[in-house]
Amino acid sequence: MTLASTIRTIPDYPKPGIMFRDITTLLGDARAFRRAVDELVQPWAGTKIDKVAGMEARGFILGGAVAHQLSAGFVPVRKKGKLPHTTVSIAYSLEYGVDEMEVHEDAVVKGERVILVDDLIATGGTAEGAVKLLQKIGAEVIAACFVIDLPELGGAKKIEALGVPVRRLVSFE
Ligand code: AMP
Repeated sequence: MTLASTIRTIPDYPKPGIMFRDITTLLGDARAFRRAVDELVQPWAGTKIDKVAGMEARGFILGGAVAHQLSAGFVPVRKKGKLPHTTVSIAYSLEYGVDEMEVHEDAVVKGERVILVDDLIATGGTAEGAVKLLQKIGAEVIAACFVIDLPELGGAKKIEALGVPVRRLVSFE
């Protein structure tokens, strides 16, 4: 079994021309889910990671499992208006236009070592916003981890240019 073989591709979803990489099939396969989490955390096994930040919504599923594996806390990075306490927000670029994401202002203690997790990096706009947001509240962002990279869209390079190493398990052209 390869991880790539457990990811389902849905052509033209959510709109024509997009090849949607659906990880629900990976998540539903016990061996694949475990392997993905094990491989995501492998570089940091035995090192001190204080928090794992996961991006709404698929980053919550993977990030929660990664946090458990690393004995770290979990920080939800959410779309605007979902978090109940005082938040810090940042605008980030989508394919068309901008949106805002938020974290609680006290989600990390200054200097805490944080890993960012999401299912997929495409243009990198979402991850770039999340890295900057976490840095804004005092986190030291150690790495950004994704199951899937779409290298043609240049997202990983964008994050590495911020000085944050990128870990990805599967690349789709
Ligand atoms: P981006 O900000 O362009 O890097 O987009 C990354 C976010 O959009 C992630 O949260 C992904 O879950 C989602 N996403 C973008 N493109 C795809 C795709 N082809 N298949 C599945 N999810 C995608």
